[in-house]
Amino acid sequence: MKPKMVEHKYTEKYYKYQCYKCNYWEWAPADVVEEFADMDEYCKEEYSLEQEGKRKGMPVMVCPNCDADFYYSGEKKVEEGSYLVDENEPFPF
Ligand SMILES: [Zn+2]
Repeated sequence: MKPKMVEHKYTEKYYKYQCYKCNYWEWAPADVVEEFADMDEYCKEEYSLEQEGKRKGMPVMVCPNCDADFYYSGEKKVEEGSYLVDENEPFPF
């Protein structure tokens, strides 16, 4: 069978998270941030006034560099891409 290449497009949303303690920052994928938001909802997480002032309505995560609070910086970006899939390739199940 001849390969039949089909282009699959995807868009990935990122939020920029920043640590005020060590200045580390990274682009956090939206699904990770949403998982944290769901967890907050589930645990009825309460933020301190200081955290409320900084989090911009977004969940507070943990800085992977120094374990301090990791806050949304207010910046976000959307990345678009695509990859090719061979439609004739049998599924692995
Ligand atoms: Zn940090």
